[in-house]
Amino acid sequence: MTAPGGRVVVRAPAKINLALRVGALDDEGYHDVVSVYQAVSVFEEVSASLPRDGVTGVTVSVRGTGAVSTPLDASNLAVRAAHLLAERAGVPADVALSIRKSAPVAGGMAGGSADAAAALLACDLLWGTGAGRDELHAMAAELGADVPFALMGGTALGVGRGDQLTPVLARGEFHWVLALADEGLSTPGVYREHDRLVAASGLRPPDLEPEVPAGLAQALRSGDPAALGAALVNDLQDAACSLRPPLRRILDLGHDHGVLGALVSGSGPTVALLVPDRSAALELAVALTASGLASDVRRVTGPVHGARQVDPVAPS
Ligand code: ATP
Repeated sequence: MTAPGGRVVVRAPAKINLALRVGALDDEGYHDVVSVYQAVSVFEEVSASLPRDGVTGVTVSVRGTGAVSTPLDASNLAVRAAHLLAERAGVPADVALSIRKSAPVAGGMAGGSADAAAALLACDLLWGTGAGRDELHAMAAELGADVPFALMGGTALGVGRGDQLTPVLARGEFHWVLALADEGLSTPGVYREHDRLVAASGLRPPDLEPEVPAGLAQALRSGDPAALGAALVNDLQDAACSLRPPLRRILDLGHDHGVLGALVSGSGPTVALLVPDRSAALELAVALTASGLASDVRRVTGPVHGARQVDPVAPS
Protein backbone atom coordinates (compact mmCIF):
# COMPACT_ATOMS: atom_id res chain seq x y z
CA MET A 1 0.00 0.00 0.00
CA THR A 2 2.80 2.46 -0.86
CA ALA A 3 1.06 5.65 -1.95
CA PRO A 4 1.88 7.44 -5.18
CA GLY A 5 4.96 9.51 -4.47
CA GLY A 6 6.24 6.82 -2.12
CA ARG A 7 4.57 7.39 1.25
CA VAL A 8 3.80 4.78 3.87
CA VAL A 9 1.74 5.45 6.98
CA VAL A 10 1.86 3.14 10.00
CA ARG A 11 -0.02 3.37 13.29
CA ALA A 12 1.28 1.80 16.48
CA PRO A 13 -0.48 1.72 19.85
CA ALA A 14 0.58 3.10 23.21
CA LYS A 15 0.30 0.76 26.19
CA ILE A 16 -0.74 0.64 29.78
CA ASN A 17 0.66 -1.85 32.27
CA LEU A 18 -1.96 -4.04 33.92
CA ALA A 19 0.76 -5.41 36.19
CA LEU A 20 4.30 -4.22 36.75
CA ARG A 21 6.34 -6.15 39.31
CA VAL A 22 9.87 -5.00 39.94
CA GLY A 23 12.56 -7.40 41.15
CA ALA A 24 16.26 -7.19 41.73
CA LEU A 25 18.84 -5.20 39.78
CA ASP A 26 20.86 -7.23 37.29
CA ASP A 27 24.62 -6.91 36.69
CA GLU A 28 24.11 -4.12 34.13
CA GLY A 29 21.99 -2.08 36.52
CA TYR A 30 18.60 -3.01 35.01
CA HIS A 31 15.76 -4.22 37.18
CA ASP A 32 14.34 -7.66 36.55
CA VAL A 33 10.69 -6.89 35.75
CA VAL A 34 7.57 -8.85 34.99
CA SER A 35 4.92 -6.86 33.21
CA VAL A 36 1.56 -7.41 31.61
CA TYR A 37 1.02 -4.89 28.85
CA GLN A 38 -2.21 -3.97 27.16
CA ALA A 39 -2.23 -1.96 23.93
CA VAL A 40 -4.92 0.74 24.09
CA SER A 41 -6.62 2.89 21.48
CA VAL A 42 -4.11 5.73 21.63
CA PHE A 43 -2.26 5.52 18.32
CA GLU A 44 1.00 7.09 17.27
CA GLU A 45 1.11 7.65 13.52
CA VAL A 46 4.35 7.69 11.57
CA SER A 47 4.47 8.61 7.90
CA ALA A 48 7.61 7.69 5.94
CA SER A 49 8.29 9.26 2.54
CA LEU A 50 11.15 9.14 0.10
CA PRO A 51 13.01 12.45 0.39
CA ARG A 52 12.75 15.00 -2.39
CA ASP A 53 15.44 14.97 -5.10
CA GLY A 54 18.90 15.72 -3.78
CA VAL A 55 17.95 15.30 -0.12
CA THR A 56 19.62 12.46 1.77
CA GLY A 57 19.54 11.17 5.31
CA VAL A 58 16.75 10.94 7.87
CA THR A 59 14.62 13.98 8.65
CA VAL A 60 11.80 14.11 11.19
CA SER A 61 8.93 16.41 12.04
CA VAL A 62 6.59 15.97 15.00
CA ARG A 63 3.10 17.29 15.73
CA GLY A 64 0.38 16.45 18.24
CA THR A 65 0.49 15.72 21.98
CA GLY A 66 3.78 16.84 23.55
CA ALA A 67 5.35 17.61 20.18
CA VAL A 68 7.38 20.47 21.64
CA SER A 69 9.13 18.18 24.12
CA THR A 70 9.93 15.48 21.57
CA PRO A 71 13.55 15.49 20.39
CA LEU A 72 14.09 16.17 16.67
CA ASP A 73 17.71 15.01 16.54
CA ALA A 74 19.31 11.58 16.24
CA SER A 75 18.01 10.66 19.72
CA ASN A 76 14.42 10.55 18.44
CA LEU A 77 13.44 6.90 18.69
CA ALA A 78 11.83 6.88 15.23
CA VAL A 79 15.04 8.28 13.72
CA ARG A 80 17.09 5.66 15.55
CA ALA A 81 14.75 2.97 14.21
CA ALA A 82 15.23 4.17 10.61
CA HIS A 83 19.02 4.19 10.98
CA LEU A 84 19.09 0.74 12.55
CA LEU A 85 16.94 -0.81 9.81
CA ALA A 86 18.98 0.84 7.02
CA GLU A 87 22.22 -0.40 8.54
CA ARG A 88 20.95 -3.99 8.95
CA ALA A 89 19.34 -4.08 5.50
CA GLY A 90 22.32 -2.44 3.79
CA VAL A 91 20.25 0.33 2.21
CA PRO A 92 20.80 4.11 2.34
CA ALA A 93 19.00 5.72 5.30
CA ASP A 94 17.06 8.22 3.19
CA VAL A 95 13.61 8.99 4.56
CA ALA A 96 11.43 11.89 5.65
CA LEU A 97 9.57 10.87 8.81
CA SER A 98 6.53 12.71 10.04
CA ILE A 99 5.17 11.74 13.47
CA ARG A 100 1.71 12.54 14.76
CA LYS A 101 1.78 11.94 18.51
CA SER A 102 -1.29 11.07 20.56
CA ALA A 103 0.48 9.59 23.59
CA PRO A 104 1.98 11.91 26.20
CA VAL A 105 5.78 12.27 26.18
CA ALA A 106 7.38 10.51 29.17
CA GLY A 107 3.86 9.54 30.25
CA GLY A 108 4.42 5.88 31.11
CA MET A 109 2.57 4.83 27.94
CA ALA A 110 5.63 4.12 25.78
CA GLY A 111 4.65 6.60 23.08
CA GLY A 112 8.25 7.00 21.96
CA SER A 113 8.54 3.22 21.70
CA ALA A 114 5.39 3.17 19.56
CA ASP A 115 7.01 5.76 17.29
CA ALA A 116 10.05 3.49 16.96
CA ALA A 117 7.91 0.45 16.15
CA ALA A 118 5.86 2.40 13.59
CA ALA A 119 9.00 3.82 11.98
CA LEU A 120 10.59 0.36 11.70
CA LEU A 121 7.59 -1.04 9.89
CA ALA A 122 7.03 2.09 7.75
CA CYS A 123 10.67 2.18 6.57
CA ASP A 124 10.66 -1.56 5.96
CA LEU A 125 7.67 -1.13 3.65
CA LEU A 126 8.97 2.09 2.04
CA TRP A 127 12.42 0.69 1.26
CA GLY A 128 11.14 -2.81 0.47
CA THR A 129 13.75 -4.34 2.77
CA GLY A 130 11.51 -7.35 3.34
CA ALA A 131 12.57 -7.89 6.96
CA GLY A 132 10.42 -10.59 8.55
CA ARG A 133 8.48 -10.13 11.78
CA ASP A 134 11.26 -11.91 13.74
CA GLU A 135 13.95 -9.59 12.38
CA LEU A 136 11.84 -6.52 13.08
CA HIS A 137 11.17 -7.83 16.59
CA ALA A 138 14.91 -8.30 17.23
CA MET A 139 15.66 -4.76 16.01
CA ALA A 140 12.79 -3.45 18.12
CA ALA A 141 14.28 -5.06 21.24
CA GLU A 142 17.61 -3.35 20.50
CA LEU A 143 15.86 0.02 20.33
CA GLY A 144 14.17 -0.31 23.73
CA ALA A 145 12.40 -2.69 26.07
CA ASP A 146 8.90 -1.48 25.16
CA VAL A 147 9.36 -1.36 21.37
CA PRO A 148 8.62 -5.06 20.63
CA PHE A 149 5.26 -4.79 22.36
CA ALA A 150 4.23 -1.81 20.23
CA LEU A 151 4.91 -3.96 17.15
CA MET A 152 2.89 -6.83 18.56
CA GLY A 153 -0.06 -5.15 20.32
CA GLY A 154 -2.85 -7.02 22.10
CA THR A 155 -2.14 -8.11 25.66
CA ALA A 156 1.18 -9.71 26.55
CA LEU A 157 3.36 -10.86 29.39
CA GLY A 158 6.86 -9.40 29.29
CA VAL A 159 9.79 -10.75 31.31
CA GLY A 160 13.50 -9.94 31.51
CA ARG A 161 13.59 -6.20 30.94
CA GLY A 162 10.01 -6.51 29.70
CA ASP A 163 11.01 -7.34 26.12
CA GLN A 164 10.65 -11.14 26.11
CA LEU A 165 6.99 -11.31 25.21
CA THR A 166 4.31 -13.97 25.33
CA PRO A 167 0.79 -13.13 24.14
CA VAL A 168 -1.90 -13.42 26.82
CA LEU A 169 -5.41 -14.43 25.85
CA ALA A 170 -7.85 -11.62 26.61
CA ARG A 171 -11.54 -11.89 25.82
CA GLY A 172 -13.67 -8.88 25.00
CA GLU A 173 -12.95 -5.21 25.31
CA PHE A 174 -11.96 -3.31 28.45
CA HIS A 175 -12.90 0.33 29.02
CA TRP A 176 -10.34 2.69 30.49
CA VAL A 177 -10.23 6.35 31.38
CA LEU A 178 -6.75 7.85 31.22
CA ALA A 179 -5.73 10.89 33.27
CA LEU A 180 -2.78 12.57 31.55
CA ALA A 181 -0.33 15.07 33.01
CA ASP A 182 1.35 17.96 31.23
CA GLU A 183 4.75 17.18 32.60
CA GLY A 184 6.25 13.70 32.24
CA LEU A 185 8.20 11.63 34.76
CA SER A 186 11.65 10.25 33.98
CA THR A 187 11.57 6.44 34.00
CA PRO A 188 15.10 6.11 35.51
CA GLY A 189 14.14 8.71 38.13
CA VAL A 190 11.07 6.70 39.15
CA TYR A 191 13.13 3.50 39.43
CA ARG A 192 15.66 5.37 41.63
CA GLU A 193 12.83 6.57 43.88
CA HIS A 194 11.49 2.99 44.01
CA ASP A 195 14.92 1.72 45.11
CA ARG A 196 15.09 4.44 47.76
CA LEU A 197 11.63 3.59 49.13
CA VAL A 198 12.37 -0.15 49.16
CA ALA A 199 15.68 0.40 50.97
CA ALA A 200 14.01 2.72 53.49
CA SER A 201 11.19 0.26 54.24
CA GLY A 202 13.51 -2.72 54.57
CA LEU A 203 10.48 -4.84 53.66
CA ARG A 204 11.48 -6.59 50.52
CA PRO A 205 14.50 -8.81 50.00
CA PRO A 206 16.31 -7.40 46.96
CA ASP A 207 16.54 -10.75 45.16
CA LEU A 208 12.80 -11.50 45.16
CA GLU A 209 11.58 -13.00 41.88
CA PRO A 210 8.82 -10.73 40.55
CA GLU A 211 5.49 -12.47 39.95
CA VAL A 212 2.26 -11.55 38.18
CA PRO A 213 -0.87 -11.76 40.41
CA ALA A 214 -2.54 -15.15 40.10
CA GLY A 215 -5.98 -13.75 39.23
CA LEU A 216 -4.83 -11.54 36.36
CA ALA A 217 -4.56 -14.13 33.57
CA GLN A 218 -7.88 -15.70 34.58
CA ALA A 219 -9.60 -12.28 34.61
CA LEU A 220 -8.29 -11.53 31.11
CA ARG A 221 -9.20 -14.97 29.80
CA SER A 222 -12.76 -14.67 31.03
CA GLY A 223 -13.10 -11.01 30.04
CA ASP A 224 -14.17 -10.15 33.59
CA PRO A 225 -13.47 -6.44 34.20
CA ALA A 226 -14.27 -6.57 37.93
CA ALA A 227 -11.76 -9.39 38.46
CA LEU A 228 -9.21 -7.54 36.32
CA GLY A 229 -9.71 -4.40 38.39
CA ALA A 230 -8.97 -6.34 41.57
CA ALA A 231 -5.76 -7.82 40.08
CA LEU A 232 -4.15 -4.61 38.80
CA VAL A 233 -0.76 -3.93 40.42
CA ASN A 234 2.18 -1.59 39.89
CA ASP A 235 5.27 -1.77 42.09
CA LEU A 236 6.34 1.66 40.78
CA GLN A 237 3.13 3.36 41.87
CA ASP A 238 4.36 4.47 45.30
CA ALA A 239 7.52 5.90 43.75
CA ALA A 240 5.57 7.79 41.06
CA CYS A 241 3.17 9.16 43.70
CA SER A 242 6.07 10.09 45.97
CA LEU A 243 7.57 12.18 43.16
CA ARG A 244 4.17 13.52 42.04
CA PRO A 245 1.78 13.57 45.08
CA PRO A 246 -1.31 14.79 43.13
CA LEU A 247 -1.45 11.36 41.43
CA ARG A 248 -2.88 9.98 44.70
CA ARG A 249 -5.79 12.39 44.42
CA ILE A 250 -6.61 11.07 40.95
CA LEU A 251 -6.54 7.49 42.26
CA ASP A 252 -8.75 8.55 45.21
CA LEU A 253 -11.20 10.31 42.91
CA GLY A 254 -11.46 7.12 40.87
CA HIS A 255 -12.14 5.00 43.94
CA ASP A 256 -14.75 7.51 45.15
CA HIS A 257 -16.49 7.03 41.80
CA GLY A 258 -16.50 3.25 42.23
CA VAL A 259 -14.01 2.35 39.50
CA LEU A 260 -13.21 -1.36 39.13
CA GLY A 261 -9.52 -0.61 39.49
CA ALA A 262 -7.03 2.21 39.11
CA LEU A 263 -3.27 2.41 38.83
CA VAL A 264 -0.40 4.51 37.63
CA SER A 265 0.67 3.19 34.20
CA GLY A 266 4.30 2.08 34.10
CA SER A 267 6.51 4.79 35.54
CA GLY A 268 3.69 7.34 35.29
CA PRO A 269 2.43 9.95 35.47
CA THR A 270 -0.53 8.69 33.38
CA VAL A 271 -3.19 7.10 35.60
CA ALA A 272 -5.39 4.36 34.11
CA LEU A 273 -8.86 3.82 35.61
CA LEU A 274 -10.87 0.73 34.69
CA VAL A 275 -14.65 1.06 34.36
CA PRO A 276 -17.37 -1.43 33.36
CA ASP A 277 -18.62 0.21 30.17
CA ARG A 278 -18.80 3.25 27.90
CA SER A 279 -21.33 5.16 29.97
CA ALA A 280 -19.30 4.73 33.16
CA ALA A 281 -16.26 5.96 31.23
CA LEU A 282 -18.11 9.09 30.14
CA GLU A 283 -19.31 9.79 33.67
CA LEU A 284 -15.84 9.40 35.15
CA ALA A 285 -14.22 11.45 32.38
CA VAL A 286 -16.60 14.33 33.12
CA ALA A 287 -15.80 14.17 36.86
CA LEU A 288 -12.06 13.99 36.25
CA THR A 289 -12.13 16.90 33.84
CA ALA A 290 -14.18 18.97 36.31
CA SER A 291 -11.70 18.17 39.11
CA GLY A 292 -8.88 19.88 37.23
CA LEU A 293 -6.49 17.15 38.45
CA ALA A 294 -5.51 16.01 34.95
CA SER A 295 -4.26 18.08 32.02
CA ASP A 296 -6.13 15.83 29.61
CA VAL A 297 -8.65 13.00 30.03
CA ARG A 298 -9.11 10.25 27.43
CA ARG A 299 -11.61 7.42 27.11
CA VAL A 300 -9.95 4.42 25.47
CA THR A 301 -10.39 0.71 25.00
CA GLY A 302 -8.02 -2.24 24.95
CA PRO A 303 -6.68 -4.50 23.73
CA VAL A 304 -6.01 -3.15 20.23
CA HIS A 305 -3.77 -4.37 17.41
CA GLY A 306 -0.04 -3.70 17.09
CA ALA A 307 1.84 -1.64 14.47
CA ARG A 308 -0.06 -1.74 11.20
CA GLN A 309 -0.01 0.09 7.87
CA VAL A 310 -3.01 2.34 7.27
CA ASP A 311 -4.32 4.03 4.18
CA PRO A 312 -2.47 7.37 3.84
CA VAL A 313 -5.66 9.11 2.80
CA ALA A 314 -7.81 7.68 5.61
CA PRO A 315 -9.17 10.31 7.97
CA SER A 316 -7.54 9.99 11.38
P1 ATP B 1 8.19 4.23 29.00
O1 ATP B 1 6.94 3.88 29.70
O2 ATP B 1 8.65 3.23 27.98
O3 ATP B 1 9.30 4.72 29.88
P2 ATP B 1 7.28 6.84 28.44
O4 ATP B 1 5.90 6.83 27.88
O5 ATP B 1 7.43 7.18 29.87
O6 ATP B 1 7.88 5.46 28.07
P3 ATP B 1 8.23 8.12 26.07
O7 ATP B 1 7.29 9.23 25.74
O8 ATP B 1 8.09 6.88 25.29
O9 ATP B 1 8.15 7.84 27.63
O10 ATP B 1 9.74 8.67 25.91
C1 ATP B 1 10.59 8.95 26.97
C2 ATP B 1 11.74 9.84 26.51
O11 ATP B 1 12.26 9.43 25.25
C3 ATP B 1 11.30 11.26 26.35
O12 ATP B 1 11.63 11.98 27.50
C4 ATP B 1 12.04 11.77 25.12
O13 ATP B 1 13.07 12.67 25.44
C5 ATP B 1 12.65 10.54 24.46
N1 ATP B 1 12.15 10.32 23.08
C6 ATP B 1 12.87 9.95 22.04
N2 ATP B 1 12.12 9.81 20.94
C7 ATP B 1 10.87 10.11 21.28
C8 ATP B 1 9.64 10.15 20.56
N3 ATP B 1 9.55 9.86 19.26
N4 ATP B 1 8.54 10.49 21.26
C9 ATP B 1 8.62 10.77 22.58
N5 ATP B 1 9.75 10.77 23.28
C10 ATP B 1 10.88 10.43 22.66
